Amino acid sequence: MKKHIKIYLTGAVQGVGFRPFVYNLAKRLNLKGYVINDTYGVIIEIEGNEENINKFLISLQTEKPPLAHIFSQEIEELPLVGFKDFEIRKSEEKGKKEVFILPDISTCEECLKELNDFKNRRYRYPFINCTNCGPRFSIIEKLPYDRQNTTMKKFKMCSECKKEYNDPTDRRFHAQPNACPICGPYISLYTSNKKFVSEKEQALKDTVNLLKQGKILAVKGIGGFHLVCDATNDKAIKNLRERKRRGEKPFAVMFKDIEQIKEYTDISSFEEAIILSPEKPIVVVKSKERTDLSKEIAPYLDRIGVFLPYSPLHNLLLNDFGKPLVMTSANLSDEPIVKDNEEAFEKLSIFTDYILTHNRDIKNRVDDSVVRIIDKKISFIRRSRGYAPLPIKLPFNLNKKALAVGGHQKNTIAIGFDDKAFLSQHIGDLETVDACRNFEEVIYSFFKLYDFEPEVVITDLHPRYYSTQWAKDFSLEKNIPLIQIQHHYAHALSLMAENQIKDEPIFAVCWDGTGYGEDGNLWGGEFLITDYKGYKRVCHFDYFKLIGGEKAVKEPRRVALSMLYEVFGENLPDVPTIKAFREKEIKLLYKTWKKGLNSPLSSSVGRLFDAVSSILDIKQILSYEGQSGMIMENFYSWNIKDFYSFEITETVNWKPTFQEILEDKSDLSVKVSKFINTLAHIVIETYKLYGKGLKLGLSGGVFQNKPLTEKIIRLAEEEGIKVLTHNKVPANDGGLSLGQLVYSNI
Ligand code: ZN
Ligand code: ZN
Ligand code: FE
Repeated sequence: MKKHIKIYLTGAVQGVGFRPFVYNLAKRLNLKGYVINDTYGVIIEIEGNEENINKFLISLQTEKPPLAHIFSQEIEELPLVGFKDFEIRKSEEKGKKEVFILPDISTCEECLKELNDFKNRRYRYPFINCTNCGPRFSIIEKLPYDRQNTTMKKFKMCSECKKEYNDPTDRRFHAQPNACPICGPYISLYTSNKKFVSEKEQALKDTVNLLKQGKILAVKGIGGFHLVCDATNDKAIKNLRERKRRGEKPFAVMFKDIEQIKEYTDISSFEEAIILSPEKPIVVVKSKERTDLSKEIAPYLDRIGVFLPYSPLHNLLLNDFGKPLVMTSANLSDEPIVKDNEEAFEKLSIFTDYILTHNRDIKNRVDDSVVRIIDKKISFIRRSRGYAPLPIKLPFNLNKKALAVGGHQKNTIAIGFDDKAFLSQHIGDLETVDACRNFEEVIYSFFKLYDFEPEVVITDLHPRYYSTQWAKDFSLEKNIPLIQIQHHYAHALSLMAENQIKDEPIFAVCWDGTGYGEDGNLWGGEFLITDYKGYKRVCHFDYFKLIGGEKAVKEPRRVALSMLYEVFGENLPDVPTIKAFREKEIKLLYKTWKKGLNSPLSSSVGRLFDAVSSILDIKQILSYEGQSGMIMENFYSWNIKDFYSFEITETVNWKPTFQEILEDKSDLSVKVSKFINTLAHIVIETYKLYGKGLKLGLSGGVFQNKPLTEKIIRLAEEEGIKVLTHNKVPANDGGLSLGQLVYSNI
């Protein structure tokens, strides 16, 4: 029996070798017809023997190229037309743009083989790629994804590249960034004050020598520049910290291969799988104690962020250099990662000795993604390169085309239509003019890429967030409605959306550093019952005063002092917190505290971590946000099951816990473990009081703490409680835009 069917596929099916795959499959099964890219995805018409058509449909799913993600498939049966052959038809540009833009994907095995094969014409060529790998999102200007719409348009393919590009059986068929040493981009090395040093192969040799001398280089990568230096050279790293004014914030380290990572760290097989995945994120793993890796990389921490080379240039550099390299985003603090050559000379000359750049422009800046494994699942700290801008599937359709602008820290934005949310790459803290400009740029680039015009804009409740102000102006300018949503409620909704929760309410524990509350206080230790229509704040941590407001966020000693005043009044016990101040300050701050001058009220569990780290003398002044909790993780021991007292009514009273920690004479590890266990028990007990029968959700930056989250999950398992965690978007404010987006249906 002969049949003719038309197949509509949507998903990430362009620029991944999908059409040649279909072509070869159809040829193999002797089917006639065509395949064409359209703005929805791919359309295929095939005619032939029914049995072969069925085989075709199965192979479409089981043999598809590794990077293709099919989101939906529709099949329509049509009358026979008598196709003569099977062909790949040229796409026309029309209709609405719904095709997915692929993230940048690390160099594939086959390209790596060619890169290291001295007989290959792309031997040691730093821009080798194919239909299965290479840059995508970072070079695209608009859809459809064709070379003319990427930053590769300025390079005219040589005859050999052209041949590959036009041959459906070649593994570079329609690989848009296809290039070779004859016709493609190349690297050049400059001094930081823009004096040309060398180019191509010589530039690589010189770069490796400079790294060996302990120099700091800026190296242009896929989504921006990195600052790079020898990861075993204390002096170089100290130097980098000073120049970058980076304090104690850990640096990521790139290793030449997985074996080398294993020499330096203890990784589980699941961590290994994520490190090796085509997305090549930075994975935070346990470092081994005695290695030649500089202790300056991650001060106070027993973990480091590791990753593998993801571009051909990284592969060449790491292999030639041999040792691990520090690779950190090249930016001034709180500014976006530098992506353009001119910008690099302008802004990076103060950090670097040399700049290794190239002439393929970066259109969209994308930072490296950072993940860690919590409860044997992937947990995003930053969802960016390799993942963005692939959509997150929503549990329902959005009524309107919506734009969500995220929060203030770790900002991401999202646009949504139908049942899809497109979260942007990491934008960062909106603290500087450049960061705010980048925020706007990303929004407009998403509009352009997806031919998108929002019908509603959603933002945080905080009146002073830049994102809120921008959203207000935007809604006025475009005359579209503005919706504001409470910060922790948005955290909960993002958790519900990514977990495909539809109609049922959940019991959401939302703990973070800070978020603006409905009462004007700084929330952050919240227990909410939420659904998509609204929320009820059923319980929260008792408020305490943050002496000095913003200052208290950076100084755990101020939070601890405030809590000590709360418990003991002026007769303070002898604790390390006191010694962290001068006597005069203590008196002065008491007055400030008592009068409540510039001392906003907060219920933040993030701040509670800070306070405990101060009374235990772990950290009195933070170098970066979340540092106290991160250091405390070092001391956690699963052997300790004990916990401190607490009291739950309409609020959680932290005073008994605080007092018992002060009285506890055990060693630090015991105290830290008991404190973390206490928080876990508070979650379970509060759930029993207020959330019985519901699913228990964990959202907010505090749940990036691995022992805390895993402890809660274990306790919940014992009680038969179903726990929801974040595995698709960050638990921190990087996930807020998703929660905001799904609130647009209100
Ligand atoms: Zn490849
Ligand atoms: Zn070429
Ligand atoms: Fe938050």
